[in-house]
Amino acid sequence: MEGSSDSAELWRLTWQHSPIGMTLVGLDGRLLMVNRALCEMLGYDAEELSQRGFQELTHPEDLDTDLQLFGRSLAGDIDSYRLRKRYLHADGHVVWGDLSVALVRGDDGLPLHFISQILDVTEQQEHEERLHAAHAEIEREHQTLEAVFETVNVGLLLIGSDGRYERMNRRHRETMSLPFPDGHDGEAGQLGHVYLQDGKTLMSREDMPSYRAAHGEDFDDYTYWVGDDPLTRAAFSTSARQVRGPSGERLGAALAYQEITDLMRAMQVQDEFVSSVSHELRTPLTSVLGHLEMLCEHEELPSGVIAQLRVVQRNAIRLRALLSDLLHVGQAVEGSLQLQRTTVDLAALVREAVEAARPSAQESGVAVGIDVPEHLPALVDEQRIRQVLDNLLSNAVRYSAAGDSVTVVLRQGADGIELEVRDTGTGIAEEEIEHVFGRFFRGGEALEKHIPGTGLGLNIVSSIVAAHEGAVTLESEPGRGSTFRVSLPHRAG
Ligand code: ADP
Repeated sequence: MEGSSDSAELWRLTWQHSPIGMTLVGLDGRLLMVNRALCEMLGYDAEELSQRGFQELTHPEDLDTDLQLFGRSLAGDIDSYRLRKRYLHADGHVVWGDLSVALVRGDDGLPLHFISQILDVTEQQEHEERLHAAHAEIEREHQTLEAVFETVNVGLLLIGSDGRYERMNRRHRETMSLPFPDGHDGEAGQLGHVYLQDGKTLMSREDMPSYRAAHGEDFDDYTYWVGDDPLTRAAFSTSARQVRGPSGERLGAALAYQEITDLMRAMQVQDEFVSSVSHELRTPLTSVLGHLEMLCEHEELPSGVIAQLRVVQRNAIRLRALLSDLLHVGQAVEGSLQLQRTTVDLAALVREAVEAARPSAQESGVAVGIDVPEHLPALVDEQRIRQVLDNLLSNAVRYSAAGDSVTVVLRQGADGIELEVRDTGTGIAEEEIEHVFGRFFRGGEALEKHIPGTGLGLNIVSSIVAAHEGAVTLESEPGRGSTFRVSLPHRAG
């Protein structure tokens, strides 16, 4: 007797303190006995709960399932069942429970009551729902990216950290046969019919865009030609970015291949047109200038006519300068800028250029200063270096206003010759700096203020300096002025 009351007490304690909600349910569904965990779970005290049936505490959408299983137990089809279902808390919010129900029968085999255990799985359920939603979101994003990846008109390629091709899109697959008519083994750097920008030199392995990207390089707009047949060759502009994992580890590289054949051909046509037009125009213009020269010498002509002829002559001279700029640009594009190097005193050359620029500087009220050594002999192409000086000086003056100053400095530096043309003029906007050396580029300020120019001057400067194996750099600040620095490797005569 003693023993059985002890175990009944033990059972009562277990029941009361179980962290799992427990209840004894009558055959009509009423909660005959409930433990503390269930009261806390549903927000009622034991008294309130015992007046309610589980039907009332169940979320309407889950009630049918529960009632069916309850009925089948009573009918003797099953002894027990399990169900994940929603309960309604006293304050109305939903509580998710894992319900286990067992039917208890008396000695006569007739149903007495049910014992139910309910584990609160609301947090778990919410967590699963969030996970599910996140998965769905990832899947949606994946589908969208997949669609974009496959439909864009740009070839896309992913290379793994070991240099193997991991994925490519439709567009890239389609263009692969041009450089690799015999197939590609999926390894970065495979050689094929790939030519440098000149369209003639076969690309080496180290120059191949996939090789460069697979070796950790990022680059933009790398231009080259592909295809064996010069007639059907296609031009591509390729950019690459390294792909990194969350802790910065290198996962591989992504490449985007844009076909730019039409653009390149149009640019070629433009270059050829510019160069042939300027050649064709040069001869008649030389004749015009010659005759003008002779005409102006006729003293018997009325002075009004002479003045008009001088205007015509000035404009013809401007035309000639423009043509010679165009011719120069054409030659530089073809890569045939031939230098005629002789030993030149650069100091004297700078002084001459400054003197030549002085009249127009004075006219605009711009002061010109000069800081050069007595002599500085160097082996350069005199005419071309003079053109560099003229272009930089004329820019410095044209992009300055009355009261500004221009300074030219020439010195022998440790690594070579340094030439600096500084002005206190309008300066150049930051976003324009990278473009000013491009062909036909004209700054916003130049266009706005109608400062005459063609956008060729700096392009010519940079091609001449490059032909001398030197470099030009630019520092500028809008409103404060610009400094152009030319450095030439020293080659004494
Ligand atoms: P152009 O002067 O005929 O326009 P350039 O090639 O010489 O052509 O120069 C390109 C552009 O660079 C100019 O249109 C101007 O916007 C800018 N630029 C060049 N030199 C200067 C300078 N010294 N100060 C301010 N802007 C300059």
